[in-house]
Amino acid sequence: MEKNFVYADNAATTRISDKVLEAMLPWLKEQYGNPSSIYSLGMEAAKAVLNARRLTAEALGASRAAEVFFTAGGSEADNMAVKGAAQLGAKSGRRHIITTNVEHHAVLHTCEYLETRGFEVTYLPVDDKGLMTADQVEKALREDTALVTVMAVNNEIGTVMPIADIGKLCRERGVLFHTDAVQAIGQLEINVQKMDIDMLSLSGHKLHAPKGVGALYVRSGIDLPSLIHGGAQERGKRAGTENVAAIVGLGEAVTAAVTDIAPRNERIKAMRQRLAEGIVSAIPHSRINGDMAQRVSGNVNVSFRGVEGESLLLALDIRGIAASSGSACTSGSIDPSHVLTALGLSAELAKGSLRLTLGDHNTDEDVDYILEVLPETVKRLRRMSPMWQRICKEEGITDYTLE
Ligand SMILES: *Cc1c(COP(=O)(O)O)cnc(C)c1O
Repeated sequence: MEKNFVYADNAATTRISDKVLEAMLPWLKEQYGNPSSIYSLGMEAAKAVLNARRLTAEALGASRAAEVFFTAGGSEADNMAVKGAAQLGAKSGRRHIITTNVEHHAVLHTCEYLETRGFEVTYLPVDDKGLMTADQVEKALREDTALVTVMAVNNEIGTVMPIADIGKLCRERGVLFHTDAVQAIGQLEINVQKMDIDMLSLSGHKLHAPKGVGALYVRSGIDLPSLIHGGAQERGKRAGTENVAAIVGLGEAVTAAVTDIAPRNERIKAMRQRLAEGIVSAIPHSRINGDMAQRVSGNVNVSFRGVEGESLLLALDIRGIAASSGSACTSGSIDPSHVLTALGLSAELAKGSLRLTLGDHNTDEDVDYILEVLPETVKRLRRMSPMWQRICKEEGITDYTLE
């Protein structure tokens, strides 16, 4: 091979699958009708959107297609759920929201915004592995709690939250429960009815569909207010002419994602285990972040002492490896990841973190290549790092010398 390229950042975005692209193409070319038009060209587009809605509902275990609302992505779905539930709650004097301190910014920053609008938010802490329990939610519930929103899978460390337990609890107490399942679809078996989920967000580009499309499941009977006002699309909950091609792609991708979850993940998990074990055994003073058991298959998150994450990413990019340090959405900001600091990591270890996320398109050769490149790269960066030299001096580290 001329030049290696290994894409190991599937939690940031995924490649569109050939099948999804093929399903989309007619709707970008000859089938360009507006689903609101009454002639055939429009009605065919409306039918395609309805079919995608059915497929998405089915994939989530929802009873009705009408419970699925298409959005322009995961962030919009999160905003629609959290702001909508807050508005609904406020009507009956409920102005309290419960969430965790490791949510995606689409939920976290929405909650912070609501605090400036007279809502009170409880941010539940996670333990040093990134885990939390339904018990914590139970203790935080109040008479005036309008919403509990807890992500299904964390995007940085891949940890799995007990959403079925939290759903059961919320259903018993009559409190709305939303979950950001953007990183969970295709990774875990999700069934909104069995898991007592009232609202669920998903995003196309995390599961081999295009960017800029997503969906919010809303259990029927919940009359969520609209964020985007205008036409009557999405049954008046989300105005704007439907992104037909992307919606068709999403329906296709969600269906593929929930098919054969177990065997697909078994293959990915085997690669992940070899990668994680290979890294910590080849690189001294490294540690895995997050829980290794309660974790989705493709995620490795590891911190290296004395290494700057940004420099590591640049060095890996030169060798053709695409990875991330913390969340892709926060790169450009120099703050350490809020998730890693929530686990109790120092700013140094949080900034020295590397997230590798494997997916359907990765191979054993990809793992071999990362294991070949990463140890020598970390060693080289440490050799040039005043931070590493200071650490060695202060802590008397001699087993990993700078020669
Ligand atoms: C990517 C992501 C989002 C945002 O989805 P977009 O479609 O990029 O807006 C929300 N939550 C989680 C957990 C994510 O990983």
